[in-house]
Amino acid sequence: MKILKFGGSSIKDADRIRKVLDIVIRSKQENGNIAVVFSALGGVTDDLIEMSKRAALYAEDYIDRLNALEKRHFDIVNELISVKNRGQVLTEVKLLTNELADVLQGVYLVKELTPKTLDFIMSFGERLSAFIITEALRDIKFPASYLDTRQIIKTDENFGKANVDKTLAYQNIARHFNNSDEVQIITGFIGSTQKNETTTLGRGGSDYTASLFAAALKVSELEIWTDVNGVLSADPGKVKNAFSIPEMTYEEAMEMSHFGAKVIYPPTMLPVLKERIPIRIRNTLNPEFTGTVIHNRHLSTNGMLIKGISSISKVSLLRVQGSGIIGVAGFAARLFGALAKEKINIILITQASSEHSICMAIEPGAAIRAKSLIEEEFHLEIRANLLDEVAVENDLTIVAIVGEHMRKTPGIASRLFQALGNGKINVVAIAQGSSELNISVVINQTDETKALNIIHHTFFNL
Ligand code: ADP
Ligand code: ASP
Ligand code: MG
Repeated sequence: MKILKFGGSSIKDADRIRKVLDIVIRSKQENGNIAVVFSALGGVTDDLIEMSKRAALYAEDYIDRLNALEKRHFDIVNELISVKNRGQVLTEVKLLTNELADVLQGVYLVKELTPKTLDFIMSFGERLSAFIITEALRDIKFPASYLDTRQIIKTDENFGKANVDKTLAYQNIARHFNNSDEVQIITGFIGSTQKNETTTLGRGGSDYTASLFAAALKVSELEIWTDVNGVLSADPGKVKNAFSIPEMTYEEAMEMSHFGAKVIYPPTMLPVLKERIPIRIRNTLNPEFTGTVIHNRHLSTNGMLIKGISSISKVSLLRVQGSGIIGVAGFAARLFGALAKEKINIILITQASSEHSICMAIEPGAAIRAKSLIEEEFHLEIRANLLDEVAVENDLTIVAIVGEHMRKTPGIASRLFQALGNGKINVVAIAQGSSELNISVVINQTDETKALNIIHHTFFNL
């Protein structure tokens, strides 16, 4: 059995959806047993967030956005479904968009948007796309049935990025598949709490939904279909010469995605890694191409020193420094504890061996909050001049080079810094994970594209 997942980029209009339908039909013929996970149509989740924010601001134009979203779905139904079946599908879509309109009107009236309500609103994206595609398949007599994952994927109440109860999810998935013969067309990204309130699994989370189904059903391969030729050596939007990486390990893929390669959502690797199920990233626009396979084997490197380069365009750096840090056991625990309390995610940490300062890269939106949390935690030390005020630097980028091969090869860091030096790119901070799978540098945001291209050229000669 195989799980296929198609992202928003593969289903952004009727033409692309037709390509997807062909791939699904062919895959069913070739593999026998398949199930297919879908994201919302490209851009729809962003649109839903935007119209919710407008409604919460009491801005009536949220209605125009809602109407445009409804029309976009109607148009796709009209293009994909024969006249005979169209009326009924349009009615169902209309019921969904009416329900969405009611919720948005509620947000508008109370001028408040809670994370719980936003999750419910975002769920309409996947519910609409998966429903319409199920109907498009049935319309051509393909045996498909729609599966709303809120019945199956049970989560905690961490709205916006809920944690899945995997044991329960796996049981529910196994039970559901025992009772169904038709090809399941599955909503990505969404789940529900014990109280049946709708949750989402984090932006880009449809990949994770697909991985959960793959692991639960112990399939032979998870295919993630997108709009590029697999995982590329760098973001193709920033590095023109980026090329497709034929194979990588789960760890490499995790590092690349953690440091910004949007092509796969980082947690996706975990469920399948446990079962040693390979992931293949493929291109809906170029279905003959084999793409990238992510698996457990450590491979020959074709003489390449690294696998790929990725970047997080916008980060802020917090610098905590002062004599109060030196040799004080438990300092780091208090520091990170203060941030963890408010779920502030730390992307990268560096500490100089002098132990005089610790730097942390975090999302810019959390910088002010993080600074005050740390200053609250250490207010006594700051008053006693053992610690300086926390310094915040904005408009920075993290660039990471990734690859298993780094572990055994000396001189990779020096090449990296030489390349950056030659390009006159100032390095603000450096970090290397102890796994030696990546080296990360923090640079000014204005240098991002230049740095990526220089590094790409240095390591790949392209
Ligand atoms: P989907 O809608 O299929 O989930 P995403 O937009 O989430 O697609 O991810 C695919 C996009 O990721 C590509 O179109 C590409 O622009 C971007 N991307 C960034 N870094 C990489 C990389 N290293 N390899 C491939 N794609 C990348
Ligand atoms: N539609 C969701 C998002 O845009 C989930 C996904 O695309 O994977 O984040
Ligand atoms: Mg995605």
